[in-house]
Formats: sequence, structure tokens, C-alpha cells
Amino acid sequence: MVGSLVITGGSRGIGAATALLAADHGYDVCVNYRSNAAAADDVVQACLDRGRRALAVAGDVSQEADVVALFDRAAAELGPVAGLVNNAGIIQPQARLDTYSAKRLDDVVAVNVVGAFLCAREAVRRLSTRHGGSGGAIVNVSSAASYLGSPNEFIDYAATKGALDTMTIGLAKEVATEGIRVNGVRPGLIDTDIHAAAGEPERVARLSVGVPMERGGTADEVAEAIVWLLSDASSYVTGSLLNVSGGR
Ligand code: NAP
Repeated sequence: MVGSLVITGGSRGIGAATALLAADHGYDVCVNYRSNAAAADDVVQACLDRGRRALAVAGDVSQEADVVALFDRAAAELGPVAGLVNNAGIIQPQARLDTYSAKRLDDVVAVNVVGAFLCAREAVRRLSTRHGGSGGAIVNVSSAASYLGSPNEFIDYAATKGALDTMTIGLAKEVATEGIRVNGVRPGLIDTDIHAAAGEPERVARLSVGVPMERGGTADEVAEAIVWLLSDASSYVTGSLLNVSGGR
């Protein structure tokens, strides 16, 4: 399958690396972002430089109207959507569960769970043969946190990724005969800006000694797994959760 992709949170980190690798593999790319237009424009330009079509679309995945508009825009400008990388995600400052506010919980669930479900819904409505689509692939970007639990850091974030893994398993079965494969990747410690958002920019360096491979990973290494799961090379893989975590 090569066609157009919607990559949520495609302006930085893992999403941006996936956009560039996907363009190298012949995909046209719709780069969603929330607020950093300059970063999204840079990714779009890099895709154009690779000879692909690309556009940046602002939108908060937790907002239903933004998600519908994102998919409509991608289809209008790039043609039928063939794949979704459900990558946008947020983390909040490291803290114990006994300090969490209801607002903190609402915010992380809104983006990491509700947002991912809304994007998956729009993808299924367009890809499913049941709805007249031609099939395709969805890759959910989860986290090793889903099985580690992230004590003393962000159990809430970890739990949202557990929810995403469960959605991957259920949705894969639900649409298995409708031409859609649904898989997840579970990155470990990857060197991106997200750790600064958690309050510890050097987090990967501090924790990498505990990784069996004794290093953090790169966004490019995660992108390789995502693009493989999008491609026909993984045609018999669905409902799988692929750890990209150096053995952690
Ligand atoms: P990042 O560098 O912080 O980038 C986050 C991206 O998501 C940005 O493009 C950002 O856009 C976008 N975004 C944030 N909130 C959004 C929203 N509400 N709607 C639309 N876009 C939104 O993150 P990353 O490290 O690449 O992480 C990407 C995914 O991998 C996340 O789901 C994360 O949980 C997961 N992950 C990361 C690691 C890691 O170690 N880095 C490990 C495991 C899993 P703006 O810049 O415009 O805000």
C-alpha cells in the first residue's frame, strides 16, 4: 500500500521522522500538528524535497471537529487516505499519583485516548471496505510505559497507552475482514522533546543504563517499525504490539 498518510503530531520527534521515512518510501503525507506551524512546515518541505506531495494541517486531535477537518483536508488535497499514524501524544510533569488533579487526568486522556479513538474512527470510515473504501493500515504509537507502569513519573500517561494497546487489539479484530490492519508500536526511551515536557530533558541519558542495549533509541529507529507496519511487507500482521525499546 502506497498512497497518502495522515500522521498526527507529525511536526516533531517520532511523527516527523515517520513523515520523512514514509516520503522516502513513496507516500504522500499530511502532517498534523497542534501549535508549532514552523516545525510542521519544515517537515512538509522535506517531504516535497523527496518528490512527494505533502501538506501541514493544524488541529488538536482531542477536538472532534478538528479531527474530521483533518481527514477531509487530507483527502481533498492528497487523494484517498490509505493510512493513519496515530502518533500525537502528550506527557505531563513527573509526579506521584497521589498529587494528580482531575484536570491533569482529563488533559492526558483527551489527547492520548479520545484523540486516538477519534482519529481511528475517521480512518475506519474512509478505509473500510464496509464503507466503500479500499482498505489500509493504522499504526498506533503507544509506549513501553504501557507495560512498565511509569511509577513516580506518570502512571496516568502509562495508563493511556494501555488503553491504546487495548484499542489496537480490539479494532484489529473488528476490521480484520474490511481491508484494514491495525498495529501498535511501543517505543522505549527515545530522544525527542517529550522528556523536556515531563520536566527532565536529560531523562533518556539518566535511564539508558537500565536498558539492556544500554542506550536510548532514535526517532528514526521507531519510524522504521511504523513504516514497516504500514507497508504490504507486514500484510499478515494485525493486532500486534511491537516493542521498539532496546529490550527494556
Ligand atoms: P514530541 O517530540 O513531544 O512531539 C509531539 C508531537 O505531537 C508534536 O508534533 C506536537 O505538535 C503534537 N501534538 C501534541 N499534542 C497534540 C494534539 N493535541 N493534537 C495534535 N498534535 C499534537 O513527542 P514524541 O516523543 O515524538 O512522541 C510521539 C509519540 O510517541 C507520543 O504518542 C508519545 O507518547 C510516544 N512515545 C514517545 C516516547 C519517547 O521516548 N519520546 C516513548 C514512547 C512513546 P506541536 O509541536 O505543534 O505541539
